[in-house]
Amino acid sequence: MHTLNTLAGISLEPYIDSLTMQIHHDKHHQAYVDNLNKAIEGFPELQNKEVWELLTNLESIPEEIRLKVRNNGGGHANHTFFWKLLTPEFDQTPLEKTNSLLISNFGDLETFKTKFKEAALSRFGSGWAWLVLTDENTLSISTTPNQDTPWMEKKDAILGLDVWEHAYYLKYQNRRADYVDAFWHVLNWKQVEENLQKARGYLGTK
Ligand code: MN
Repeated sequence: MHTLNTLAGISLEPYIDSLTMQIHHDKHHQAYVDNLNKAIEGFPELQNKEVWELLTNLESIPEEIRLKVRNNGGGHANHTFFWKLLTPEFDQTPLEKTNSLLISNFGDLETFKTKFKEAALSRFGSGWAWLVLTDENTLSISTTPNQDTPWMEKKDAILGLDVWEHAYYLKYQNRRADYVDAFWHVLNWKQVEENLQKARGYLGTK
């Protein structure tokens, strides 16, 4: 049984409004969890698998539930990852290892932010923007549609941004660019550093 951690008490105002956070977590994320549980109900061999295991082995999931597991498992995994990236300790800066990789890959932080924003804005419709650690231990910006996730391709994301309208529409309406700008204020760079440390390919250790 997949479950949802609480986000109670975390305020990201004024950058992300509390009503959006509440609906996003309690309704949208909860629905992904519920629908994932429902999809795998009749499949005991899938019951004890972590959502990451399901997503990295989608080809082994029975065909009749594969799309449901992809969409709802992806939704569960992506949001679980995303909440940890949001912090009320505003305006953090990248930590040591993250910073050095950002500089070696993009030149400087501002260039990275510009390119990430371009990617986030270029994702047509619903989806996500990602910063992914490649097998060569470089950083790469990418996007996915819907709830597809880098883990489906066995790639480790270290940072991700939900660009579905449900993530920003109440406060920002059609202004996705303003939402991306606000994201930097609430981004938990400590978590990004931790994600980098945990990523499989980090600095040739895999
Ligand atoms: Mn979302």
